[in-house]
Amino acid sequence: MTHVVTLLPPLNGLPQSVQVESDAVSGGEGEVYFSTDGRHAVKAFYHANPNLEQHLRYIMALFADLPEDQKRFIVPPLALIETFDGTPRPGFIMRRVPPRYRKAVDLILTPRQAAEQFARGITWGSYLLAARSMAHAIGVLHSKGCAHTDIHYENFVVDIDEGDAVMMEADGVVVSGFIKPRVKGLVGFMAPEILTKGAVPSKITDRHSLAVLVLHMLLFRNPLQPLIELSDDQAESVRLGWGEQALFSDDPQDRRNRPTYLDVPLFEGGVLGYRMLSPQLRHVTEGALIAGLHDPPRRPSVHDWLEALSATLDQLWGCNECQQVFPYPYWKSPPMRACPFCGEQTRPPRPVVLSMWEERLAGSFAPIDRALVLGNGSPIYADMAEPHCLPPRTRRGVPIIGHTVWDEKRRAYRLVNNSDCTWTTVQSTATPAKVGGNQSIDLQPKTMIRLGSGKRILEVIDGGG
Ligand SMILES: [Zn+2]
Repeated sequence: MTHVVTLLPPLNGLPQSVQVESDAVSGGEGEVYFSTDGRHAVKAFYHANPNLEQHLRYIMALFADLPEDQKRFIVPPLALIETFDGTPRPGFIMRRVPPRYRKAVDLILTPRQAAEQFARGITWGSYLLAARSMAHAIGVLHSKGCAHTDIHYENFVVDIDEGDAVMMEADGVVVSGFIKPRVKGLVGFMAPEILTKGAVPSKITDRHSLAVLVLHMLLFRNPLQPLIELSDDQAESVRLGWGEQALFSDDPQDRRNRPTYLDVPLFEGGVLGYRMLSPQLRHVTEGALIAGLHDPPRRPSVHDWLEALSATLDQLWGCNECQQVFPYPYWKSPPMRACPFCGEQTRPPRPVVLSMWEERLAGSFAPIDRALVLGNGSPIYADMAEPHCLPPRTRRGVPIIGHTVWDEKRRAYRLVNNSDCTWTTVQSTATPAKVGGNQSIDLQPKTMIRLGSGKRILEVIDGGG
């Protein structure tokens, strides 16, 4: 048996009536049905609400003209329901996310769920990519002047094989002064001031929820999970633990929420700590969960998170022992550079690490807090040379302009120019040397290489080996 749903104009290219399967997924506000052609989903609300239709029309208009590279992260309403099996019912139709996408909560609630994915050959890098897609989704809302009331791991679906994530419930957005929130959010992800002061969800509270969600994706646990009861009254204990006395588990000054086996390798029964993350991610984590936890204006923006997550993609290194990948800890002394999953030390030859510089004024360069971690045969992609460019979602098809080679005899790395561009080495003591196509240069610490006119400079900050 199927149901028939008719739609109200404007139809935006959709048929006027759609058949949906009889089975529905029930939620708090309504039911979701899937069209028999598998292309769409219909959300039918239980109750009519005088503001609902106006709200949905506003959201539809807001997201109608999104470019494809933004549309993919969210599923906004496409048209409103007129009738459901002949009876008027509030609701809307949206695109259907393919069934291979699973709720984020099923992949990260416990380290065991992540371990199941690792056993299938999925790496931590896929979780990092999915976390970046989540930040993108919130970024799309914020760019339209919206906030979300309900950011948490039930409202994102993830294709972990591709490292992709899509935000569901885009109809739950709020616009300051226009669309009021229908829900307050989920305890655990809600900003403390919502619990303590009844603050209204906003971009600033979203920044908190996003931080918790991203770290949950990367560490497989909630980084604010209270470990002690703060009151005999359970509701009060929740209010205090996630509100007034909310505390980052890895806070260096206050250890009350610190898990016993924090920073012990995950596969040895330990708990991943934020110290395994790249410097960029640690910086935004400290901004969100230490400095900005109870001081909302200090929280990093969604864009800050996007930059930090993106930067980390170029700093991954593989473990020789367990084959997992992790941000290569070049900030530690070489004997301390161990795999956070199995605890194995990284083995020589260790990678070479290059930092990126960009031209600010003519001839004046400044570091941009990005690094590349490169091993033997690692490609340099075209986007790595371009100013103001973050790593793309995939580098399939991106031109390769160079690569690194490990010279076993000399125990040093070289960088080969595979582009048509002439590179120049920039050293204060020497006149610039030119590195043409198929020529290479020794990657000694402090060497600086300009990847062509108008391009970035790479500086060797760790020669590796
Ligand atoms: Zn390992």
